[in-house]
Amino acid sequence: MNTISSKTDIKELTRDELILWLKSRDIKSYRANQILKWIYLRQADSFDVMTDIKKEIRERLSQHFYIHRFEKARIETSQDGSKKYLFKLRDGKYIESVLIPEKDYYTLCISSQVGCAQGCLFCLTAKGGFLRNLTKGEIISQVRDVAYDIGGSKRLTNIVMMGMGEPLANFSNVVGAINIITDSDIGLGISNRRMTVSTSGLVPKLSDLGRETKVNLAISLNATENKTRDMLMPINRKYPIENLLDACANYPLMPRRKITFEYILLKGINDSEEDAKRLVKLLKPIRAKINLIPFNTYQDSKFECPEESVILHFKDILNKNNYTAVIRHSKGQDISAACGQLRANMLL
Ligand code: SAH
Ligand code: SF4
Repeated sequence: MNTISSKTDIKELTRDELILWLKSRDIKSYRANQILKWIYLRQADSFDVMTDIKKEIRERLSQHFYIHRFEKARIETSQDGSKKYLFKLRDGKYIESVLIPEKDYYTLCISSQVGCAQGCLFCLTAKGGFLRNLTKGEIISQVRDVAYDIGGSKRLTNIVMMGMGEPLANFSNVVGAINIITDSDIGLGISNRRMTVSTSGLVPKLSDLGRETKVNLAISLNATENKTRDMLMPINRKYPIENLLDACANYPLMPRRKITFEYILLKGINDSEEDAKRLVKLLKPIRAKINLIPFNTYQDSKFECPEESVILHFKDILNKNNYTAVIRHSKGQDISAACGQLRANMLL
């Protein structure tokens, strides 16, 4: 009998890989959907409960695979109702996911890597460096395990990949996970329109994302001049603003969709009237909307958040130029669950 540690989490397989595995054992391919439904729709924890599948098949499955659930190392709840999950991975590393209650539904912010290699100056995740990519199963598990945990009538309908890590630097696992998370046949069934991938701007991967998925795209722009963006986000030295925005203008955007541009407001760095005006010009060729994120501070952070009046003035300029711009005050500040505050790998 194989022990758990020598088995593969079945969530690591794509639907096609599972079909191949079944076929090579003379098991009909329609079984794949049945199995996936048990895992995602019915949240099964073992193959034993899959009663519409023959016992021999279940036994073969459990000889090779198991269905992993994360160990929840810690759950913290903020005064505003958001919840931060600290998950322990099989190799002992940790990641965080943040559940944000909205009026009628939940949004879950998930991670794509343990840490991040991009080194953005304002981001706490960057401070712990990069440890490894998350596997496909680990990305999916954040959604599956939290959906299981929620209970009640309010459903998890929105996913943002804005937690730890740079999703496009872990491209194939991210796309594989998106395929399962948005598969309406087998259970988690998150709509493509309600899933967003946020990137610091790995330009060569942008068009691949547009080709291979139908999810929303968010770009962490954060500055309107290369010298400022070079300083804040080292990736800009490789792919400067013009290249990034060119790739956005050519992005295979779905009809009636817009690209979201995230713009952290940092006092005295990127919050001037000129910045707002430059932003309007830069985004002209693109179907864009803008999320203004007032900087979330943390211990020893070099930056400050601008005054409320400065933030409102910045937003006004964008609105007057016909841009949808909203101020996104991050939730979960009191439990370090806000944008840029996730740092599970540094806690332990
Ligand atoms: N790596 C991806 C996704 C994770 S970061 C990316 O950079 O897009 C998610 C968002 O949090 C980004 O828009 C980033 O600019 C923002 N962010 C990072 N640190 C922040 C902080 N301290 N305050 C506010 N937003 C922050
Ligand atoms: Fe990585 Fe995004 Fe943080 Fe930059 S902002 S260090 S890309 S997680």
